[in-house]
Amino acid sequence: MEIFDLTSKVAIVTGSSTGLGQGMSLGLAEAGADLVLVDIVDSKETAEKIKALGRKSLTVIADLSRMDAINDLVKKTLETFGKIDILINNAGIIRRTPAIDFTEKDWDDVMALNSKTVFFLSQAVARDMMKRKSGKIINIASLLSFSGGITVPSYSASKGAVAQITKALANEWAQYGLNINAIAPGYMITNNTANLRKDPERTKSISDRIPAGRWGTPDDLKGAAIFLASSASDYINGHVLLVDGGWMAR
Ligand code: NAD
Repeated sequence: MEIFDLTSKVAIVTGSSTGLGQGMSLGLAEAGADLVLVDIVDSKETAEKIKALGRKSLTVIADLSRMDAINDLVKKTLETFGKIDILINNAGIIRRTPAIDFTEKDWDDVMALNSKTVFFLSQAVARDMMKRKSGKIINIASLLSFSGGITVPSYSASKGAVAQITKALANEWAQYGLNINAIAPGYMITNNTANLRKDPERTKSISDRIPAGRWGTPDDLKGAAIFLASSASDYINGHVLLVDGGWMAR
C-alpha cells in the first residue's frame, strides 16, 4: 500500500494534545510520519504514543490565536526536521450562546483561531512547500461549514470560512504541487461536544439522525487524514470530505 505510506514525511498537527488532533496525529504516525505537535497545552500523551509507534515528534506549546506563534512554529519545525510535508489545521474552539446575546469577544476569539490562523499558518507553511513543489494541507471543517448550527454563530461563520479558504487556496496553489483539502467531521466524542452531550434531548435527537447509529471518535478520522496526507490524493484539490456517519446524507 505504498500510495498511503508516509515514511520520512514531516507533519504539523495543531490542537494535538487531545481529541481529533490526537487521533489524526497517531494515524499519520502509524502510516510512518514524524510529527510536530502544537497546542496551547502540552501534547505529552500524544508524544508518548508516537514514541511507542517508533516515530519522532517535536512538541511545541503555543497560543495559535496569536499571529506571532505562526512564524515561531514554522522556524522550530524547519530547524528540527528541515521541511514540512503535511499541515493539519485542526485546533479550534467553540462558544455557545444564543445569537441575541453573543459577545464581541466570543466572536473574535473563535474567528481568530478557527479561520484567521488557518489561513496564515497555511500561508507560512506553503512558502516551504512551494520550494519543493509538494505539500498537503488538511483543514478541519465541520457540518457547520454547510449548515448554520444553533447558538454557535461565530463557530458556524468560522467553519464556513474554513471550507472557502480550502477552495481559495486550492485554486491558487494546486499548480505548485500542493493539495489543499478539508475534512468535515460529524458529531464526534471529544471535549468540543462535552457540553452538548450534557443535554440529553439534543444528544438523543442527534443520535437518532446519524445513519451509522453512533457518534464518531478520534480514531474515525485516521483514514481520511492518511488519505489526504498521502500520494493517494494527489489529484484531489479543494475537496471537503465528510466523515459523519452519513449525517449529511439524511
Ligand atoms: P477538542 O476541544 O478536544 O480539541 C481542540 C484542541 O485545540 C485542544 O487540544 C486544545 O487544547 C487546542 N486549542 C484550543 N485553543 C488553542 C489555541 N489558542 N492554540 C493552540 N491550540 C489550541 O476538540 P476536537 O473535537 O478534537 O476539535 C478539533 C477540531 O475539530 C476543531 O477544529 C473542531 O472545531 C473540529 N470539529 C469537531 C467536531 C466534534 O464533534 N468534536 C465536529 C466537527 C469539527
